[in-house]
Amino acid sequence: MSTTANTLRILIAGGGIAGNSVALQLLRAGIAVTVVERADSPRPGGQAVDLRGPSREVAERMGLMEGITKHLLHEKGMSIVKADGSPVYRMSMEMFDGKGPVADIEITRGDLNDVLLTELAGTAGDLDYRYGDWIETIDQDSEGVTVGFHSGTSERYDLVIGADGVHSRTRKLVFGPEEQFTTYLGGYMSFYTIPTPAGAEQDWMSMHVVPRASLGVRPDYDPATSKAILTLRTEQNPALRGDIAAQHKLIRDMLAEAGWVVPEALSHLETAEDFYFDELVRVDMPSLFQGRVVLLGDSGFCGSPMTGTGTAMAIVGAYLLAGEIAATPADLDAALVRYQEQVTPFLDKAKEIPGGGIQLMLPTSKIGLKMMQQVGRLMTTKLFRPIMMKMLDSTQDYVLPTY
Ligand SMILES: Cc1cc2nc3c(=O)[nH]c(=O)nc-3n(C[C@H](O)[C@H](O)[C@H](O)COP(=O)(O)OP(=O)(O)OC[C@H]3O[C@@H](n4cnc5c(N)ncnc54)[C@H](O)[C@@H]3O)c2cc1C
Repeated sequence: MSTTANTLRILIAGGGIAGNSVALQLLRAGIAVTVVERADSPRPGGQAVDLRGPSREVAERMGLMEGITKHLLHEKGMSIVKADGSPVYRMSMEMFDGKGPVADIEITRGDLNDVLLTELAGTAGDLDYRYGDWIETIDQDSEGVTVGFHSGTSERYDLVIGADGVHSRTRKLVFGPEEQFTTYLGGYMSFYTIPTPAGAEQDWMSMHVVPRASLGVRPDYDPATSKAILTLRTEQNPALRGDIAAQHKLIRDMLAEAGWVVPEALSHLETAEDFYFDELVRVDMPSLFQGRVVLLGDSGFCGSPMTGTGTAMAIVGAYLLAGEIAATPADLDAALVRYQEQVTPFLDKAKEIPGGGIQLMLPTSKIGLKMMQQVGRLMTTKLFRPIMMKMLDSTQDYVLPTY
């Protein structure tokens, strides 16, 4: 039997933005898709993610804008605040024409994932979506992949897509240990939902910075809640992985001296249902595929949340991968080569961290902080605004192929 789109069987590991985006487009192309998500239900959480340039174009081509519009955040801009809550400087959305730190299309990561899941549920096709399961073993030959699942079953697929995040198990099983492909970027980030503090200005992303740490409070779709965003500049400590009590302690220690609404935000650490904490790493793969196993999203190309482009890379990558597979379903090997060729120029731009990384964003001393704030103020002047816009929208010149 010759291979056509509707005889292909593809397994996707991970039901995040990358996994769900590619699942939707493959399903629409008539391909049978299985998704295994390790969590027992869709993972909530994450602060606002923005869609600019090519990622916005993909969201439009995927027909997601109606769902996204219903969950749009109406942020007015970003404000750096002192310990008493008064602004050091402000960057309004208008100042940067929607291309500054706050873009004109902002949606929380959790809401965007819900939009994708709703689209998936409403799409006809052969979709098998499994929560609470993951890949244990992968054996591949030139024709396909035999996968052993944690649940005990074993199944055969034409292709496996590893979209299982920055600590990808698929990558580890097929490509090698995580340390081979990751670079520590000097700190940790944490996100969780809090009741909107009275001292946080409504509809603004506000941020209070102290030496080595910052707390941002960002609007949620529901005005009663906000997203807390913590950034910590510190040495890498593998013992923090999976040890939530140690993660909370590190956060409390590093923000002990901070004012503004920080004590109030930290009082919700233990009770937050969507507490997320991870190290800031960059993932660089020499190749995104090996045989019939291919990586997508953070598993294959993470620049860390500091880039602000993780979601954009996931969506654009998913569009290119699904487009190339659907173009030549009988020649997956060629499709994977083209996927890598198409996505690499986009990644090269998207992985850059605007503003130079955590060392510049979080100085270690009060003097450094003052200097950083001077630079921030300068960026709000008419002369420097175009530079800021270029830094934040490095992918705007990328030309998306049409499938
Ligand atoms: C809860 C959460 C909150 C986040 N918040 C932010 C944020 O506020 N800002 C930001 O810039 N980035 C955030 N990120 C990262 C951001 O989602 C990604 O950078 C980007 O969207 C690319 O997504 P991804 O699908 O590749 O990875 P992820 O979003 O990490 O999704 C990977 C998915 O794979 C699942 N998974 C993990 N291991 C396995 C396995 N072995 N088998 C099957 N499934 C597995 C995970 O549960 C997850 O659902 C967050 C990620 C998560 C999981």
